[in-house]
Amino acid sequence: MRTTFNILLCFFAFANTTQAISYEKVYANLKDAIGEQGRAFPALEVRPGANSVLAYNRTKNTIFIDEKALDICASFGAASEDALAFLLAHELTHFYQEHDWKVAGFGSRFLAAKDTYHRHVVDEQEADLFGAFLTHLAGYRSVKIIPAIFDRVYQTYGLSEHLDKYPSLSERKQVAQEVCKKVSELIQLFETANHLVAINEHLTAAAAYEHILQFVKYKELYKNTGTALVAAAANELQYGETRFYFPLELDADIPLRDGAIADRKELLQKAIQYLSTATRMENQDIGTFINLCSAYILNQQYSEAAQLSTLLTRLESSTIQSDKIAVLKGIIAVKQNDFDRAKQIFQAIQNSSTETSVIQLAKLNLVALEGQVITPNIRPFQPSTEQIEGLDLGYQNDFDFQEMSINNPYTQEENNFGTYQKASATLTHISGYSNTIALLTTDKINTTTSDGLGIGTSFEQIQQAHPDGRMLHHDRGFYLVLPQRKLFFVFDTFNRVSTWGTYEYY
Ligand SMILES: [Zn+2]
Repeated sequence: MRTTFNILLCFFAFANTTQAISYEKVYANLKDAIGEQGRAFPALEVRPGANSVLAYNRTKNTIFIDEKALDICASFGAASEDALAFLLAHELTHFYQEHDWKVAGFGSRFLAAKDTYHRHVVDEQEADLFGAFLTHLAGYRSVKIIPAIFDRVYQTYGLSEHLDKYPSLSERKQVAQEVCKKVSELIQLFETANHLVAINEHLTAAAAYEHILQFVKYKELYKNTGTALVAAAANELQYGETRFYFPLELDADIPLRDGAIADRKELLQKAIQYLSTATRMENQDIGTFINLCSAYILNQQYSEAAQLSTLLTRLESSTIQSDKIAVLKGIIAVKQNDFDRAKQIFQAIQNSSTETSVIQLAKLNLVALEGQVITPNIRPFQPSTEQIEGLDLGYQNDFDFQEMSINNPYTQEENNFGTYQKASATLTHISGYSNTIALLTTDKINTTTSDGLGIGTSFEQIQQAHPDGRMLHHDRGFYLVLPQRKLFFVFDTFNRVSTWGTYEYY
């Protein structure tokens, strides 16, 4: 009787766990965040009765997860997926970064034995850091609970403070806590850099991305850095040069503030370097190549650009991507003095494309081809007036900011990045020698703009209220920017606002 009862209990415990946490879903989201769908990611297998928490076996290309580990995650209740995301992301990092320890059967375990751990402490820190960053990219809030995850793992697996075989809990937790602090800073900087791209502060954004690249390296970050640099270069016209419009996410109507100082040649060389690195990584998306091709054109490497654009045409791609590639081919034709062909290409796009933004590019380039100069329709910018949790940007706030220093090679100055966190509002600033950009953002439901727009508002609602809003695509969704009101909205995959904010210059 007792046996039956135990079996039943186990069965229910297992059934509950697997139902409560969809580990396949969490795993799929993490893989999505890495963004290399075509890659041979490890299989995931749950092991009842196993004692290694998680383990990655390279030969079998499988991540094994203990049933017990799933129970630990379930014990976090509403945060169970956040907990699981961190454990999986840690192990996935060992695969992704291709740590080949050349010992212990080409595998890694979450609970690494002490000597293995100490030999590979750098890899372990990286797996914690990159793993935690990845959970954020995948939309989980794991960072705050990382120390608690280690507590429960050590407790559940019956590991005490002083262990012969494993690093002590306090040692493992100390590493994790340092990582949490660093990751929180990097996440804040990464989000701020994305916002900066949306408001056309490309060089400051590039410097911020480069800072992050020192700690976590992944394809999207190389791409973002390179793209921000091409965008800055595309906006920097040489004297007497006709402006052509590239299929980059750029807003021509926002005047650039940080472009003039940097040397365009230098920007483009770096952009080409970053984008080339991104394209050498597996399953690169076509957007990276389009940006690389734009960089070649701007850098006057026309034969490289022509070669790449021909190659891209042959690759299968969506209609919008094909149209963007055609825009590049048109600009290449201009640069090679084949104006008839250029005109033909732009006209064809104008007549047959279904994408408004690409038709607009073709139109602008046709006008440019006629030698006409388009003056952007820049309307007066109002000061930022929005308030979040009692904070506003009406004057330069002087709070006790948490600060870090970022080298900005493009403006040749040291940028001071500061964060001040309230319950619902995040205030950040990036200061150079003579100017400061401040951003006030929120992702909390109870906050709205003065005209009632906020978290959860649909894209259509905002467009209706502000038909002049400018849409900018980003790797993680898209932005709607209202430059005149210094407001921006970040949308999730359901086309609803997930973050909004306001910005100001001092
Ligand atoms: Zn590990």
